[in-house]
Amino acid sequence: MIGKVYLVGAGPGDPELLTVKAARLLARAGIVFHDSLVSREILQLIARDAEVIDVGKRCGQKLLTQDEINSLLVSAAANHAVVIRLKGGDPLIFGRAGEEIEALRNAGVDFEIVPGITAALGAAAAAGISLTDRRAASQIVISTFSRRTEGASMDFGAITSTTTLALYMPGPDYAEVAQRLREGGLPDDLPCVIVSKATGAEQQIRWTSVARLAHEEKLPAPALMIVGRVASQKIQEVSKAFWRDEADERHAPRTAVS
Ligand code: SAH
Repeated sequence: MIGKVYLVGAGPGDPELLTVKAARLLARAGIVFHDSLVSREILQLIARDAEVIDVGKRCGQKLLTQDEINSLLVSAAANHAVVIRLKGGDPLIFGRAGEEIEALRNAGVDFEIVPGITAALGAAAAAGISLTDRRAASQIVISTFSRRTEGASMDFGAITSTTTLALYMPGPDYAEVAQRLREGGLPDDLPCVIVSKATGAEQQIRWTSVARLAHEEKLPAPALMIVGRVASQKIQEVSKAFWRDEADERHAPRTAVS
């Protein structure tokens, strides 16, 4: 093996949020395998003579299976000094990097992970939300419920009234999302922010609540939701409203918001 594989985070959208290291590597790349989420401006930073392969989804249709991508990465390392697997956000958050890392390790291919700014952090910055605002939150849960086939579903036991939930891949059916959040024990008036295309030119931010979410107009993908007391423009008021059960909570930290 002559090459090294870099699993690189492209950040949430704004090309200026790419790390210096990612930009430097893209300029030296021999071959780049990228997801469809990665913006055109970032792809323009790739070395002119590099091979560029889109391994993402088109209209919900996968172009390549994960096993195929894994094999491509391993074989590319035999022919190129710098192989880049470029993913939206951070490669280690809902990025299937685990499977790629395993394949590279098994094949004895040298690899390195270059972190990126994950979408939840881009969205929080866009909306001006402090995810761990000490007046209203003590933990962040990064989750999704759209991965049924992969056996991972949201653990509502981990959600307390001081949890900030960053919900990735909420899908287009907001009524269903609202219903699942309510079934999970989140109160109707708990604030929720939908951020679409965070940090990009077409970014949209919608301030809503768990119950009102069901009736919100769908925003363009990619979008995520930040749910919790911090997802309000009036944190102090919201904190007071939700803080009544604080004493009980201390004794039962694994209960859902009530
Ligand atoms: N590895 C990526 C996440 C990939 S999963 C990361 O760390 O950000 C894809 C999901 O990420 C989308 O369905 C959406 O929920 C979220 N996402 C990615 N980019 C986004 C953006 N610019 N704005 C809002 N959500 C985004």
